[in-house]
Amino acid sequence: MNKVRASAPQLQGLVPYDPKYLPAEAFLSANENPRDVDPEIRKQAMREVKKAALNRYPDPLANELRDMIAEANGLERDQVLVGNGGDELLFDLALAWGGPGRTFLNLPPTFSVYAANARLTNTTVVDIPRNPDYSIDEEAVLARAAQGDVDFMVVASPNNPTGLMASPVFLERLLGATDALVMVDEAYFEFSRQTMRPQLAAHENLVILRTFSKAFSLAGVRVGYILGNPGVIREFVKVRQPYSVDVVSQAIARVVFANRAKFEPGIEAIISERARMMEALHKVPGVTPYPSDSNWIFFKIADAAEAWEYLYAHGVLVRDFSSAPYLENGLRVTIGTPEQNDLFLRNLRDFALRP
Ligand code: PMP
Repeated sequence: MNKVRASAPQLQGLVPYDPKYLPAEAFLSANENPRDVDPEIRKQAMREVKKAALNRYPDPLANELRDMIAEANGLERDQVLVGNGGDELLFDLALAWGGPGRTFLNLPPTFSVYAANARLTNTTVVDIPRNPDYSIDEEAVLARAAQGDVDFMVVASPNNPTGLMASPVFLERLLGATDALVMVDEAYFEFSRQTMRPQLAAHENLVILRTFSKAFSLAGVRVGYILGNPGVIREFVKVRQPYSVDVVSQAIARVVFANRAKFEPGIEAIISERARMMEALHKVPGVTPYPSDSNWIFFKIADAAEAWEYLYAHGVLVRDFSSAPYLENGLRVTIGTPEQNDLFLRNLRDFALRP
């Protein structure tokens, strides 16, 4: 009989991240860009991929891409680090700043990966829940941070899945009130048009997370990056997997980044569809949409799990948060193409008006 020892105790009860991806006509569940990379840019990317030596390890730190990102942000190479998606850098954060005897301050409801990484690394998680409208309980966070035992925190801005940015005034106060490392997760900043980057020079404890997965249509390629002060970046480099960003991803990301201006019309289209969707959602009886600075809208509806089923049966996949803590009756719809959004709205109305 085969026997195997139990895995590490902190894995007990830990549920693996599940994006709940299912085949559908309209994928509006993962906050992806509904438009794939433009064929011209794709062709250029493929030309770069063809040039790559596949038998050689990639440049471990993706320095060419790092330099491009640094230059675009008015920073130096040692203030940037590229990772295998933002997800890898979030994991590195927990490895470098967490661990037994260390404390992570979490602001639920927020991206579930933050707390999961903290638990995996045996880090103590302290929750300061958001207000009922999902704004941050700013005074409670400042007071808790001032106690001095918090080692790191993540503030998603805009916050996934609820939608709004954190106030820059609050973030400045927080950065000044603590020496904990504060990651501002700007995975969706291209849709909010706001960044904390100008504050990097004044705050050694600020690190900013970005990704190619959303505005730049590269969720399938897995490239993200952080901007931070050289001392902070150095600690991330110590814990990262040496070759986490492969040669193919580096080549594609370089071409996409060089062409980033061409993604602007697509971003504009998402922002204007967001306004149209918000207005339409307000008119659906029994639906409460929450304001959004991002490429999705979180909304509440009675019988949300049933609404999810109805939408799915009609070809629309949205994300069901109805049984997640703090998000009762909540669904999240990613802004898609106008056609996908119409299909969603039509079916949500039909569900809301069902006899
Ligand atoms: N931060 C937030 C808030 C996210 O929603 C996501 C994607 N779900 C990420 C980070 C990580 O994205 P990626 O690994 O695709 O870069």
